[in-house]
This record gives sequence, C-alpha cells and structure tokens, in this order.
Amino acid sequence: MATEQRPPSKSFRKNDDSAAPGEAIRLNKYLSECGIASRRKADELIGEGAVMVNGKKVYELGTRVVPGQDRITVSGKPVKPPAHKVYILFHKPKNVVTTMDDPEGRPTIADYFERLPVRVFPVGRLDWDTEGMILLTNDGEFAQKVNHPSQEILKTYLVKVDGRPTDEHFERLRRGVSVVGGKVNARHVERIRRGDSDKYDWIKVMIGEGKNRQVRRMFEKIGFDVLKLQRVAIGRLRMPGSLKRGEYVFLTEAGVKKIFEVEVREAKIVPRKRSEKSDARVAASRKNKSR
Ligand code: URA
Repeated sequence: MATEQRPPSKSFRKNDDSAAPGEAIRLNKYLSECGIASRRKADELIGEGAVMVNGKKVYELGTRVVPGQDRITVSGKPVKPPAHKVYILFHKPKNVVTTMDDPEGRPTIADYFERLPVRVFPVGRLDWDTEGMILLTNDGEFAQKVNHPSQEILKTYLVKVDGRPTDEHFERLRRGVSVVGGKVNARHVERIRRGDSDKYDWIKVMIGEGKNRQVRRMFEKIGFDVLKLQRVAIGRLRMPGSLKRGEYVFLTEAGVKKIFEVEVREAKIVPRKRSEKSDARVAASRKNKSR
C-alpha cells in the first residue's frame, strides 16, 4: 500500500529544542516528543488518567518529568523516545476518521499504518467526508509548529459546490465571513473548470486557519453546499498526483521544508497581471500556431 520514497535519515531532527540531559520538561511535551500524540491530545490522555509516572497515575496537566530518569507509561505501556522521526504524507480517502482509534468502530487512518514499525499520529484533521492530503508524524514539536496559527501555513482545497458562485460570492469569501469560531477569509479563491456542467462548479480555495469544517461552513455561509472536498496542498507541499487514495509517502527533509516556505506562497495569492509584453508574446505564438 505504501509507495515509500526514501527512509528518513536518523540524524534528521526538526526544531531540536528537546531537554538537556537531566532537565525536567512538561509531561505533554515529553509524550508528544515520544510520538504518543499531539500535546493537546496528550493533555486529554493525562486528564483521562491513562498516564503513570513512576507507577502513579497523574492528572495534573503541568506535571514535569525528567526524560531518561522517570518511568512513564500510557495505558500500561512504557513510553520511550523514538529512535528517529518520521514525516508521512497520506492520501486520505473519504469515509475514514482522522483518529488512531475510533470508539464507534469506523474505519480510521490507523488502519493504513498497522504495519508501520513506528507509532505515528495525524497532524490536524480532515472531516470524515473530506479526502486528500494529511500529514502524520511521531514528532510532536513538528505537529505543534504546523498547527500553530503564527505559522500561517496555507492549506489548499479543491471544492465541488452545488451551484455556480459568482465573482461577488468569491469577493465575500475574500473579505471574510463569520463561521462558528470566528471570522475567517479565503486567502485565495478561483474557479477551476472541470467539466461543463451548469449545475456545479469546482473552486480552488486557500485558507490560513483550520477551524472545524471551515471550508464547508464558508461556502454554506454564501449559500452553497459543498458536494466534494479535497485537500491538495499544505504550504508549498503538494500532494503528488500519482498518489492514490489510501497510499502514503515518507517525506524527505526537502519535503518537510516546503511546508514552511513562505515567499512563493505569498506570491501565489497575488493574481499575476499580464504585461503588454507577455500579451504580445501570446498573440505571436497563437499566430505561429495558426500557420
Ligand atoms: N474544511 C472543511 O470543511 N473540512 C475539512 O475536512 C477541512 C477543511
């Protein structure tokens, strides 16, 4: 199932701010560094009483531990820092939940990683009925960074909508609409033609935040139901066209870097004006073709 590219190098560490030997760090940070879960999810595990330090259950979210010294378990299993970090780009099919365990027994993304020798968790989430690109890792700091609003990492979606929004609708999305959780806007929005139906449109939209069902709610707000939703890029990292639903690739260091690249991303959201010179070039090439 996996179309593995290159295994990640052992020495590859992102954002290497782990504790010096003997230094105490927060338990949620330790758990996320060990690939158990994101820091937020680790807090949930602590709150549920699933975490023990030196044989005692801890519930205090601010608990600090000394890596290599304190004995930590989650659900009875010892927690150890991973030998190396992995970064995975997965093409999530629809009708799959973005969790590693679903109490309702629905298909989860964990089903696709059962044979992976390291434990990974998803970075953010896609809805049950959304397909496309999602990252998985065992590097809690990386997950934290990708999700942090200060990074302003743009996510690109292709949206099939019920109906034909006009430029005025797009302008409303660019200016911003209020959804549950606050006001949000589209950093870029454009119609992309796919087929000739006058009943629906395909739209490319880029957003900076990651609020619950944000894209669906933004379109609902301007009067359109979303029929299909696919995420195709995170930052400048695009999902390879050849990656089928349910397949994944390991990211190289260069791939990981693309997520955080800014300059080109900003250039992309500014519509390019065609100069007179380029108009002349297009006209000349058309003329040549018609000969
Ligand atoms: N916006 C949505 O509405 N759903 C997703 O899964 C992702 C973004």
